[in-house]
Amino acid sequence: MCISSQAGCGLGCTFCATGAVGLVRNLTADEIVAQVMHPHWTREGLPRPASVAFMGMGEALANPHVFDALTLLTDAGYAGMSARRVTVSTVGFAPNLARLVDEHPQVTITLSVHSPFPQERARIVPLEERFPLARSLDILDRHAATSRRKVYLAYLLIADVNDSDDHLAALTQLVHERSRPELFHVSVIRYNEAIGAAPDHRAPSSGRADDFVRGLTARGVHATRRRQLGTGIDAACGQLHGRYLAANPPVAAPVDTELIPVTPVRS
Ligand code: SF4
Repeated sequence: MCISSQAGCGLGCTFCATGAVGLVRNLTADEIVAQVMHPHWTREGLPRPASVAFMGMGEALANPHVFDALTLLTDAGYAGMSARRVTVSTVGFAPNLARLVDEHPQVTITLSVHSPFPQERARIVPLEERFPLARSLDILDRHAATSRRKVYLAYLLIADVNDSDDHLAALTQLVHERSRPELFHVSVIRYNEAIGAAPDHRAPSSGRADDFVRGLTARGVHATRRRQLGTGIDAACGQLHGRYLAANPPVAAPVDTELIPVTPVRS
């Protein structure tokens, strides 16, 4: 199950429909956990999901409530999930990445790379200016060495932006420079064109995405191409809202600051 940590997101990655929404607000820990548990609580016999990924709306590590949510999700007396079945995805919010590996070392981590070149990365992931990728990689080097947990590096492939052979070579080098390169796995994702994202971004061909993965594995890097679902119905995070906003331009940005506690209904 893919879940959200924020309504919108304020970090403005150029390829992201959620970034185009802007940050509306952080979700509370209740709201985050309810995405996972509410169906289980309210529909008799419905099992909890086998795994959960913070890959919906929002930069998970920019929301401090995510730490309480992780505690609830992994507490044996509450959601009771294995921490290893929970994935936190981040574009590199370094201070809270350090906190995450300290407080929840068994949680699976995906760090979005998207370019091995800092100046180029800063153009598509503006957080690079504040927290350079190198800082997050240092944290994950220490984490991999001590926990021996596998770390995932996400690489969104955008045609003529970051899919060249130079990018392939530099990404390979970046992985080989890690303290435990065998524990780093590159997850290649073909760009999905979306309302609100930079209009000049294009998806590479499926063949180019496969070639990129093959190029990494041929150079000794663990890599796979991430399976995509729902591309025909704009089903990725932020896309539905982007389509809604395109049809219903906001008069004034509605910000709901009321916190709505979720009362579990147990069967
Ligand atoms: S990719 Fe993540 S961090 Fe970047 S704008 Fe989208 S939701 Fe925010």
